[in-house]
Amino acid sequence: MQMMLQLAQLMEHAGTLIAVFDPEDRLRFANRAFRAAWFIEDDEEPLWSDLMRRNYHARRGTIVETANFETWLHTTQARRGKSGFRAFETDLHDGRWLWMAETMQPNGWMLCVASDISSIRPDERSLRQDRDIAIKASQTDELTGLPSRRYVMGKLGELVCSAGGGEQDVGCLAVLDIDNFKYINDRFGHGIGDAVLRDFGVTLQRHVRKTDILGRVGGEEFLLILPNTTMEDAEAIVQRMLVAVRHSRPVPEQASFRYTFSAGLAWVTRGDDPGAVYRRADLALYAAKMRGRDQISIEIQPDRRLGSTIAATSE
Ligand code: GH3
Ligand code: MG
Ligand code: MG
Repeated sequence: MQMMLQLAQLMEHAGTLIAVFDPEDRLRFANRAFRAAWFIEDDEEPLWSDLMRRNYHARRGTIVETANFETWLHTTQARRGKSGFRAFETDLHDGRWLWMAETMQPNGWMLCVASDISSIRPDERSLRQDRDIAIKASQTDELTGLPSRRYVMGKLGELVCSAGGGEQDVGCLAVLDIDNFKYINDRFGHGIGDAVLRDFGVTLQRHVRKTDILGRVGGEEFLLILPNTTMEDAEAIVQRMLVAVRHSRPVPEQASFRYTFSAGLAWVTRGDDPGAVYRRADLALYAAKMRGRDQISIEIQPDRRLGSTIAATSE
């Protein structure tokens, strides 16, 4: 008890900036140095997105170089909290340079620790920044701002290798593919096609939890990794995505324009080959397309039971 009190006092007065975010990305703890750097009141628990937004518009806190803040937020959130550990440099409006280290728990809680590195090799700063920008570009799909195929497949590889208890299942994988996209392109033009792809990314992202990873892996094909998720929960999440996309109207000039997608789901087990999981989910996707599109299909595994059915299809 005495020890916890000492720890709390040390953290409060440390020069290091310390914060904890919950799975909804709400700030649940921040020490004095962290609160001062990002202008947070003592009793406040803002969402990370709201904190970044209000500081961006007030030109304080983190320097965010973007012409469109909401686009930046969408791209950044697609990558935030997806790694067990991530560290990067960031600069503040007050002139300080920070080394931010984020540690994620599989349950979605995140510890954020930042140290002032303003005095460390400032001459090499632009070189380090260029490197970080290049890495980010290689991990990002330019059109949608979502993680790229390379990044998502890497994360799938990490998931099948993840250590843990005796449980064999480590989550689910969904392949999401826009229906009749070739027709959309042919009928409305490539520009509208691209707008639909961007809308698809934004609409899906709203239903992606902090620990899930959504990326664009091909033309109109997206992958969703759902770590530590049962098939029932994965299906419910993708079901919500189906509904959201049905209601989306991405073309203002064509108010009645709508589109749908189909999804194939597969279990991910420890030691699985990422390519094999992808193929199983893709086979399930093919079944969803054959059944008429705008629906979910789950891979058929004879030794699996999902409630009373093995392969379930949404309405
Ligand atoms: P299904 O419902 O069976 O999935 O049919 P589909 O028409 O969606 O599938 P298909 O694979 O036949 O067509 C995909 C089309 O996606 C063909 C290709 O021209 C288009 N495409 C691929 N990448 C892009 C892109 O970046 N932008 C646009 N606008 N179109 C793209
Ligand atoms: Mg398609
Ligand atoms: Mg396709």
